[in-house]
Amino acid sequence: MSKNIVVAIDGYSSCGKSTLAKALAKKLHFIYVDSGAMYRAVTLFFIRNNISLNDSAAIEQALKDIHLNFHSRDYQTHITLNDEEVSEEIRQMHVSELVSEVSAIKAVRKEMVRQQQRMGKSKNIVMDGRDIGTTVFPFAEVKIFMTADPKIRAERRFKELKSKGEEISLEDIFDNLAHRDFLDTTRKESPLTRAKDAIVLDNTTLNEKQQLEFALERILPFIQ
Ligand code: C5P
Repeated sequence: MSKNIVVAIDGYSSCGKSTLAKALAKKLHFIYVDSGAMYRAVTLFFIRNNISLNDSAAIEQALKDIHLNFHSRDYQTHITLNDEEVSEEIRQMHVSELVSEVSAIKAVRKEMVRQQQRMGKSKNIVMDGRDIGTTVFPFAEVKIFMTADPKIRAERRFKELKSKGEEISLEDIFDNLAHRDFLDTTRKESPLTRAKDAIVLDNTTLNEKQQLEFALERILPFIQ
C-alpha cells in the first residue's frame, strides 16, 4: 500500500531544485510547491507598494493584504498575487535583487512557513526552497540538499533568462547568485543549511534524468 510522504528539497540558488522537484511531482503524482515563488511574490508586492524593509507595521499590514495562490498546470509554477498572475515577473532581476533581504525578515518567514505547512497537511507533496527540511517540514520522509559549481549555476540561469528575452550579463547573474547565497546562509531566521538527515545531491555533472533517478532511488522505498 502506498504511504503519504513529504519530499523536501533545499539548496543554493539556481541549483536546479525546481526542475528536479517538478519532475518528481510529475512522476509520483504529488503536489509541487515552489516556496521561493512565494518569497518572490511578497517581494514584488513590497516593491510595487514601496514598503520599507525597516517599517515593521507596514510589513505586518502588507502580509495581511497579500493573498498568494498556486494554480497547477503541467507541474509548472503558476502563482497569483491578489488574483494577478505574476509567475513571469517574479523571475525578473528587480525581484531577484531584493528577495533575499525580504525573506530574511522574521514576520515574512513566519507567515510563509505557516502557509507552507498548511499546504503540506495532506502530504504527498514535493516542496523546494531553503528551509524546507530544517524548518517547514523537519519530519519530511525524504530530504535532498542540492548543490552545484557556482559557475555552472550562473550559466544555467543565464541561458534561462536569455531565452525569455531578458537583457542581462552572465557576470550580473553570477554576482546575484553569490549575493543571495551569502544572505541566505548567514541570515538569523532559518538560514540555508543542510538538515542533518538530508542527502546531498551535487548536480554539477549530472543531467536531469540522472538527478531524477538519484532522487527516486531514495523516495521509492518509502512509498512502495
Ligand atoms: O528558489 P528561489 O531562488 O526562487 O528563491 C528566491 C529567494 O527566496 C532565495 O534566494 C531566498 O532568499 C528566498 N527563499 C527562502 N526560503 C525558501 C525559499 C526561498 O528564504 N524556502
